[in-house]
Amino acid sequence: MNAPEHVTIHAATERLSLTWRDGQTQWIDNATLRERCPCSTCRRLTHSGKAARIEPHLAIVDMQPMGYGVQIAFSDGHAQGIYPWDYLAGIA
Ligand SMILES: [Zn+2]
Repeated sequence: MNAPEHVTIHAATERLSLTWRDGQTQWIDNATLRERCPCSTCRRLTHSGKAARIEPHLAIVDMQPMGYGVQIAFSDGHAQGIYPWDYLAGIA
């Protein structure tokens, strides 16, 4: 899957926007992104019914493009998740 044209952090509204190549813009809340972190630690927690606690006003502090996706660092110190583009596109 192709990378979006733009990925923008909206600090004030605590959301990420992704503008895909077909012109569609997708918005995802920081908390939703954190909840859906695809790293092995978070997946294990989710499967055992102990999802990570999401702190209020969670911010995205860094993003690193990884080719097939993006690594997102959150203000709670969690930065293990690499989100593939197709995974992000599937988050409603
Ligand atoms: Zn994680």
